Amino acid sequence: MIYLDYSATTPVSYDVLESYNKACKEFIGNPNSLHSLGVKSKKLIQEATKQISDLFNVLDSEIIYTSGATESNNMALIGVALANIKKGNHIIVSKLEHPSIYKICEYLETLGFEISYVNNDNEGLIDFDDLKRKIRPETILVSICAVNSEIGIRQPLKMIRQIIRKESTSCLLHSDMTQGLGKIPINFHDVDLASCSMHKIYGPKGIGILYKNSYVNICPLIYGSSKESTLRPGTPPVPLIASAAKSIRLAVQDLDRRETFIKRLNEKITKELKTYDGILINQTKYSIPHILNISLKNIKAETFIHAMEEYEIYLGTNTACASGEFSTSVMAIFNDKKRASSTIRISLSYLTTTDEINRFLSHFKTVYNKLNALVAN
Ligand code: PMP
Repeated sequence: MIYLDYSATTPVSYDVLESYNKACKEFIGNPNSLHSLGVKSKKLIQEATKQISDLFNVLDSEIIYTSGATESNNMALIGVALANIKKGNHIIVSKLEHPSIYKICEYLETLGFEISYVNNDNEGLIDFDDLKRKIRPETILVSICAVNSEIGIRQPLKMIRQIIRKESTSCLLHSDMTQGLGKIPINFHDVDLASCSMHKIYGPKGIGILYKNSYVNICPLIYGSSKESTLRPGTPPVPLIASAAKSIRLAVQDLDRRETFIKRLNEKITKELKTYDGILINQTKYSIPHILNISLKNIKAETFIHAMEEYEIYLGTNTACASGEFSTSVMAIFNDKKRASSTIRISLSYLTTTDEINRFLSHFKTVYNKLNALVAN
């Protein structure tokens, strides 16, 4: 098997699984219980949270556990919107966000919030002048992803925050950092709120975090009884939280060395795929090397992906593309509907080997020639 869909999800690392198993076996108490087993579990959560907050140099209370980035994004956008309803009803997002952000925006529109979409240039970089123009006194939140999930465009969040601060003292910045964590250095201090998901960094599915600076007020989205968290009540998932700390600790190590290696693999693939007439490389100078997006001019992405699967090669596509729509990210940058209608995402990891890439390229050629011949006839 050659797995090249690491941006969709990653396999759980052995060490993380060990933490998970240990917590399941040895920490059986409910952290909300008063007895010693409960206290033991509660302490494990506190230790895990301390490890995470130390890594990001933030307060323990600024880390909120969620089920993943979709929930973190909901908590951030809806939570901020509801808490600031008297201050304003305007929210700005980029055109390069994950679909979960757009779905939340659609919901917020039904509640009377107004959503603006900030432009980007043809390299994918946020248009700072457009952002400045769009910020109004009633703008309560800007949400811009750290790294775009389809083309891997990386945004300069620190600069974006400075621009927002100049225009408004009360407007908050949220960033969906799901595709950034474990790939690039992440600084929570660049933003007011940030979403992350552990299954993208070799952790288990079902656990994410929301970083929320202590001065930010948000309304809870779920209600219940809990001593541990008023924003996410219920029994905390102790083993998942222990694994989250382990995943993050492992993910933020060695970023430079891993990136150098992945960049070499990316360059190898790009160099070869550029020789195909029917392929366009959707990369700009702001793309990180872990994500390589291509457009197929004559072949449907879905058909191509299934054909590659016959060789046990697993690639990603945009779900909208697979259902006959187009990739919003490719559209936002290249403004070409045809180019955006059949895209494939090849996502790489430090676990990917040169041998895998050689075999991938060889099978790619076979599948491409076969399907292209069918289209031509
Ligand atoms: N945001 C981004 C940028 C993502 O890539 C993803 C996962 N595809 C999500 C949010 C949703 O994450 P989760 O699966 O943890 O809900």
